[in-house]
Amino acid sequence: MKIVKHIGSYTFEIEGKSIKDMWKNLSDISEVFGDQQCGACKSENISPVHRVVDDNDFYEMRCNDCYAKLSYGQHKKGDTLFPHRKDKDGNYKKNAGWEKYNKPADVDQPAQAPPQKQTKKLNF
Ligand SMILES: [Zn+2]
Repeated sequence: MKIVKHIGSYTFEIEGKSIKDMWKNLSDISEVFGDQQCGACKSENISPVHRVVDDNDFYEMRCNDCYAKLSYGQHKKGDTLFPHRKDKDGNYKKNAGWEKYNKPADVDQPAQAPPQKQTKKLNF
């Protein structure tokens, strides 16, 4: 079985052995290529980017206008990707996960950790 799916400027030929197989493949492709515009500036001038750093593969969608990027994680099983839309605490990031690179001058000062209270019990 084969289906042709258009997502924005892309055309995919999706193959599968069964309707469930096709559905899964359609879902995987829609999840990865579903963003047709930058989540930060709404530009449609976006491109998939693949980088290799220290033998690790990085997949991201990048905005060619404001340079925001949506990074993708890799499923442990299979050869599929998923967009990082949540932070490490499980909260949804703003702009649907599209993040702008902040120049060091624009980065907020890191919150200073409160001084640790040190209570020492001295036993004599
Ligand atoms: Zn943008």
